[in-house]
Amino acid sequence: MAVERTLSIIKPDATRRNLTGAINAKFEEAGLRIVAQRRIRLARADAESFYDVHRARPFFGSLCDFMTSGPVVVQVLEGESAVARNRDIMGATDPAKAAPGTIRKLFAESIEANSVHGSDSAENAAREIAFFFAGLDIVG
Ligand code: GDP
Repeated sequence: MAVERTLSIIKPDATRRNLTGAINAKFEEAGLRIVAQRRIRLARADAESFYDVHRARPFFGSLCDFMTSGPVVVQVLEGESAVARNRDIMGATDPAKAAPGTIRKLFAESIEANSVHGSDSAENAAREIAFFFAGLDIVG
């Protein structure tokens, strides 16, 4: 196993309910280290660019509305197999299908307002980290 980095976003439904610390505790308990973190408000163009891969999906407009509806916390998580490990901690996209103890099972409101984003591959992690962070922002 190799030490990796992955991009995580704590979404507006979670920042609104003041769950940043509770969610960060889940990452740290699972052995992931938060090596960069910033609270920001996405502009519409930022959300559309970040989710460009979903542009043709029927929920694209609603997803961009949601992601710009409040602050998000963008962060880089580091650890052994961080991409896959974070996906395990997050749980399934739909909280109704998420495993017990996962962030989405514990906290998500719906399939859209599902509290966290996490990169789904090493390639996407590199691209998504570079979307939000410069090298000097990340302190391992
Ligand atoms: P993820 O990798 O588990 O986040 O899932 P996807 O990459 O498939 O989808 C990206 C995001 O779009 C999800 O995290 C949800 O916020 C949202 N989303 C996914 N599927 C649906 C859907 O069927 N309806 C709506 N409204 N939003 C969805």
